[in-house]
Amino acid sequence: MMDNKVALVTGGNRGIGFEICRQLGKADFLVILAARDEQKGNDAAKKLREEGLNVSFELLEVGNEKSTNDLAQIIKQKYNRLDVLVNNAGVLPNSNNIETALIGEVKQVFDTNFFGVILLVQAFLPMLKSADEGRIINIASGMGAFNEMWAGHLAYRTSKTALNGLTMVLSKDLANTNIKVNSMCPGWVQTDMGGMNAPRSVQQGADTAFWLATATNIETGKFYRDRREIAW
Ligand code: NDP
Repeated sequence: MMDNKVALVTGGNRGIGFEICRQLGKADFLVILAARDEQKGNDAAKKLREEGLNVSFELLEVGNEKSTNDLAQIIKQKYNRLDVLVNNAGVLPNSNNIETALIGEVKQVFDTNFFGVILLVQAFLPMLKSADEGRIINIASGMGAFNEMWAGHLAYRTSKTALNGLTMVLSKDLANTNIKVNSMCPGWVQTDMGGMNAPRSVQQGADTAFWLATATNIETGKFYRDRREIAW
């Protein structure tokens, strides 16, 4: 088996996911930068390789069962190892509420932000179980926290609330394994999603994911921002 730990980051071609790939690469991970667009994914991985990092691109459309299972096969054949799964890919459609939300659109949001995560965990569980210290890191959002709940963005908020629920259930289901499962909120980060007015850099947004992937003695079944536990 290889010496380097292997991490898979979904939606790794831009924004927070790209920066998580970079930070894990700098920590000597072999990083699989997964993206749904071949060109964008290849370009992003190449950029990080030019920085001297061990990053390779693989195709993944989150929410698509075949794409997920194909990727698991490829990773098994190429590396037969996965230490860290970062469920970063997410979509934030225009704000909607109970009067304006189209159910088809709500379901699409859940396909990426929630069901896709279940598919990925199922597909990669055998490899994560074989790792010395498996980690599942779900990039949720304060917008999905009961504690910070507000009006608007019905689809996005509830998909992230569901993701946080999944984190909890997984942490219990996997309590007797070596796998730690946590949710995190990156804060309001300057990306295509967060917009130019966001106060935080991608470096700040990615930091807690890096910490959850690399720190020893982390807990499981918690929700974090800035490396501190926050309320669900
Ligand atoms: P961006 O919109 O900048 O990037 C989203 C990434 O997800 C892109 O790589 C995109 O790929 C990918 N993606 C979306 N849907 C799919 C899919 N079905 N399959 C594969 N890839 C997909 O978002 P951020 O970097 O800002 O956000 C990253 C995560 O952080 C998200 O989960 C988001 O909800 C969360 N978050 C962000 C906050 C912020 O302020 N930015 C605040 C709180 C949480 P493509 O380029 O092909 O579209």
